[in-house]
Amino acid sequence: MSNENKSIHEFDVNLICDYYSALERQGPGSPEITIKALSFIDNLSDNSQIVDLGCGTGGQTMVLAQNTPGHIIGLDTFPTFINLFNSNAQKLNLQNKVEGIVGTMHNLPFQAEELDLIWSEGAIYNIGFERGLREWRNFLKKGGFVAVSEASWFTNDRPAEIDEFWQDAYPGIDTIPNKVKQMQDAGYMPVATFILPEYCWIESFYVPQVEARETFLKKNAGNKPAEEFIANQKHETQLYYKYKEYYGYVFYVGKKI
Ligand code: SAH
Repeated sequence: MSNENKSIHEFDVNLICDYYSALERQGPGSPEITIKALSFIDNLSDNSQIVDLGCGTGGQTMVLAQNTPGHIIGLDTFPTFINLFNSNAQKLNLQNKVEGIVGTMHNLPFQAEELDLIWSEGAIYNIGFERGLREWRNFLKKGGFVAVSEASWFTNDRPAEIDEFWQDAYPGIDTIPNKVKQMQDAGYMPVATFILPEYCWIESFYVPQVEARETFLKKNAGNKPAEEFIANQKHETQLYYKYKEYYGYVFYVGKKI
């Protein structure tokens, strides 16, 4: 198998974490899109308890904090991301409103029916869309909201090359109607779904990586796994440009019923 086709699962997580630490976002998205998803949520007050699962360094969490009342906890498995998250919160003077903690979305440190809103951009795939929605629901108050962005197919059929890439990267990828049904079956009213525009991938996610890759390669000169990882990332980017009419990220907003 050529290096560029190596599966993302074969790379060392510390290497991936180091690469993504240098970026403001660790997945596709934008401040406007975070605010748009938030516009469908109408139950928030100063007492609201909000969590952002798989928050990374907190790009979207800070946007949330600037646009909602309530208290926000960002949770991620990587301590490096959480350290950056908490220093970003301080820089923006949001340290009294947002707090980053190390933890896993598989075993959340919250009480049953404690939360008003569960947010997760580009991260629910780590537990799986259906399983995440079902398990996280227990932590939401009745009438609470979940808002997640998730890789989805835009069409029923697609070329084999991109199908095979995603079956390896994330077999849980599915069409929008199927995801909406999964959300409804998990006990939510499907309040909104919308496709993230291409700039959320290109300008917000892939363009900043061009410079980040050069810096990363200089820092890791002669490190074969690092070079392979970058080749893999470039391949993934090329696939997006080639097949972006077939897939993308979709925001799903649901209300616990
Ligand atoms: N929400 C951020 C990051 C998305 S990348 C953004 O949109 O920019 C996915 C994130 O999920 C990474 O930060 C990764 O560290 C985190 N992650 C992976 N497995 C996790 C788990 N089991 N629990 C919590 N976070 C996890």
